Amino acid sequence: MSHKFGNWYSYSGVVHIHTNASDGTKPIEEIIAIGRESGLDFMMFADHMTLVHRDNGHEGFYGKTLVVIGYEHNDAADKNHYLIFGAPRVYPAQMTAREYVTAAAADRALGIVAHPDENRSRMGRYPPYPWTEWHVRDFQGLELWNQMSEWMEKLTPLNHMSMALSPRKSMVGPTERVLKIWDELNIKGRYVGLASVDAHAFPIKLGPFTVRIFPYKVHFKTLRTHILLTEPLADVFETAREQLYGAFRDGRVFFSNMRWGKADNFEFYATNSNNEVTVSGGTIEHHPNTRLLARLPSRAKIKVIANGEEVLDTVADELDYEVKQKGIYRLEAWKKKRGWIFSNHIRIGQ
Ligand SMILES: [Zn+2]
Ligand SMILES: [Zn+2]
Repeated sequence: MSHKFGNWYSYSGVVHIHTNASDGTKPIEEIIAIGRESGLDFMMFADHMTLVHRDNGHEGFYGKTLVVIGYEHNDAADKNHYLIFGAPRVYPAQMTAREYVTAAAADRALGIVAHPDENRSRMGRYPPYPWTEWHVRDFQGLELWNQMSEWMEKLTPLNHMSMALSPRKSMVGPTERVLKIWDELNIKGRYVGLASVDAHAFPIKLGPFTVRIFPYKVHFKTLRTHILLTEPLADVFETAREQLYGAFRDGRVFFSNMRWGKADNFEFYATNSNNEVTVSGGTIEHHPNTRLLARLPSRAKIKVIANGEEVLDTVADELDYEVKQKGIYRLEAWKKKRGWIFSNHIRIGQ
């Protein structure tokens, strides 16, 4: 659902959906129908190493839901998974991570590092697929919070029944390690942070049981990524797709776990005495009366993070914070020790 505040329009959707064209479990038409029922403004599909749905003309508007199709590249060792949207074709499978990141950037595609922090060790049957190529910098964003990765990492023989029964409740948030990497990257450049569902809806074996933990429908009500636009989303597909990719490139993004409440109405922006206003991804000058302002859908623990350090921790449904120093600022909102809403960085005076 879209929301307007100031001169901004926000839209919410899901990123990183697999279909039965790779290892997902439903045809794309059925998944799109579930996405429409779930009220998604956009859906970003990324099957492994194939653009078959895009080639078959499945991108477009379905009712009010914008559907775009990229793909997920991996290296020869099945590591360094990378989501690529807007590439002319699937790049050669023998490319190294450096090569496909560079090729996508040269083609002006949108490249997002997938589940960078995967490190589960308990599940022999489901090995981790971490990102190892941190020296490569030509990507545009990072999945800070991947629903399948987090769920599988938290699984132990003792908790698997409760995690299977309440899969959305067990989600905590991005790891501190990945947030630190992200903050450090953003001090030097601009890298969008987002949440992804990595939806497959595959059955998982838990001891004697086989359970479908996250059907697509549940995925679509959990980790949402929200974009901020200066104009309403266009009706013309090609224009809307550029608006969507543009929001990711610029970092005009926040993400949320819908389990703790819809975050569509979340507002976070900065103003200064020069009447400049900006949202996540933007920059304003640092003047004496520069403020970060936020409005949350309901009360939560609000943290303000400046250059990777926590500078405020309070419980409220609004924020009015005077910025004393230049830096990159972002907001986190938590409910009962569970991550709820995470903004991208606003740059103040830099
Ligand atoms: Zn992957
Ligand atoms: Zn995936």
